[in-house]
Amino acid sequence: MKMTFAEYIKYNEILFKEFNIDTNTLKTEFEKGSGSLNDFAWSMYNKFLIEIGNFQDISDGKRNYKLNRVYIEMLTFLRKFEKKKGNHILKQCFITETRALSETDLVYTANIIAGDNCEYALTLEDEEFEIDDDLINFPIDFNKCNREEGCNCGLDFQPKRNEKNELIHKVK
Ligand SMILES: [Zn+2]
Repeated sequence: MKMTFAEYIKYNEILFKEFNIDTNTLKTEFEKGSGSLNDFAWSMYNKFLIEIGNFQDISDGKRNYKLNRVYIEMLTFLRKFEKKKGNHILKQCFITETRALSETDLVYTANIIAGDNCEYALTLEDEEFEIDDDLINFPIDFNKCNREEGCNCGLDFQPKRNEKNELIHKVK
């Protein structure tokens, strides 16, 4: 699907607002370059990621919350306009979401929610995964996800409770 500049602006409206991007300046910038609109869009996404990485005085949780917002936009852009699976970006979405949660001192677990047409994830649906901050034991093996358009399985995060139904705090 070919996108126009107006569509591109509309599509990323919220992100541009968040980063105080003046869309008229952006248009001039794009017209000066000789690359494709898709390349331009990717260069902007990467710019946002770098900018967030350079933010000072921001907690790790908040930083990852912001990164997560950008990755979600990247994923939908990739799937909508480039018709690619983008599972590697989906993984970044999950990782940043997990790290954003790690801001709290609660212990979290995750359940996999199987999306449409994913028989693999259905076999994992009842399992509960302990979440570590870096998702080293990442629960979804995207190579096994057989969904043509890219995985649309989700992770449902829940604070862990003990046998008395009390929230469990991280040991410092
Ligand atoms: Zn899947």
